[in-house]
Amino acid sequence: MEGLSRRRLVGLTAALPLLGQVSWAAPAAATETLSAAQSPVRLNFNESPWGPSASARTAMHEGVASCGRYPYPLQYALIETFARQQGVAEDHVQLFCGSKLALQYAVHAFTGARSLVVPEPSYEAPVDTALTRQTPVHAVALDAQHAHDVDAMLAIRPAPGMIYVCNPNNPTGTVTPAAALERLIAKAPSDTVVVVDEAYIHFSDAPSCIPLIKAHPNLLVLRTFSKLYGMAGARVGLAIGQPALLEALEAFDGYNVAAEPSLRGALASLEESGLVAQRKRDNLRLREATVSRLSAAGWRCTASQANCFMVDVRQPAQAVVKALADAQVKVGRVWSSWPTWIRVSVGDAAQMQRFEAAFFQVLGQAA
Ligand code: PLP
Repeated sequence: MEGLSRRRLVGLTAALPLLGQVSWAAPAAATETLSAAQSPVRLNFNESPWGPSASARTAMHEGVASCGRYPYPLQYALIETFARQQGVAEDHVQLFCGSKLALQYAVHAFTGARSLVVPEPSYEAPVDTALTRQTPVHAVALDAQHAHDVDAMLAIRPAPGMIYVCNPNNPTGTVTPAAALERLIAKAPSDTVVVVDEAYIHFSDAPSCIPLIKAHPNLLVLRTFSKLYGMAGARVGLAIGQPALLEALEAFDGYNVAAEPSLRGALASLEESGLVAQRKRDNLRLREATVSRLSAAGWRCTASQANCFMVDVRQPAQAVVKALADAQVKVGRVWSSWPTWIRVSVGDAAQMQRFEAAFFQVLGQAA
């Protein structure tokens, strides 16, 4: 789940039409309200413009009839399929209602009185969790290539309880070279847990860290069905690691798994051959088309391999986010360490066209 605070969620909910209140007496007004609420282009949460695949949708519908039962058989089937596809043992995989939950549990489980090390800018969920429990946080700036500064992360003393890695990184979309990550994992103190968040890995050419799990009892990898698989609202995430690490997470919430339709959709997604390659190709084409037009006009963009990228707008980015929202194009939040950059999620062709039009209208044709 993207970083949506309870306060912002309440505001968002208040702005939405209450579907339960759509009255038969006023269908036209209700429809107008709904389409007005849907009309802004939503490039703000790194969601998929395509949603669940066709086979996932069918499977999700079929899962509704089974909602009278606890979904444990589906949970095991999903774990078994993922483990087989990845070549790991089934007891090295656990499911959570979204990978954010597993990440939050990891902070609770592995920091204790020790610190958390994170890249900056990056996905804020681990820091937000650390702050709720007074865990000290060391934020290490990305390097000049916008990769993790692995040596600076390793140099933090006393040894942290947890090092968070996001590859590709949210919000930059940039990838850290595999050799650097392997060095980080090999050199991290044995009692420091390295959490590698691979929420966006399917969009990239980066190798997964999952094969490293066998040799590294202190390595945890996170995956999600929210991004390439288009199932953000279905809340299915995975943690992959040796059993002792997974048990430390399960102490918080091991058996509160997602609903049967969500699990069926996730399983169908894994089993749909060609889905990852197709969506990766489409995302790359759409992202690069926009990035190359912005770059040609003089705007600097990050070298993203994810479904989001950042643009340096060379002025306070928050005002640009607001101006774009006024033009019915919602882009991502602003990271205080990069105050002149906006984050743009990759949408479909029509959405990217609307983003570009609004961008050039707000910022001018040339940088
Ligand atoms: N990890 C990263 C890097 C993310 O950007 C997000 C959501 O945006 C998540 C995890 C959360 O994903 P999920 O929907 O599986 O909780």
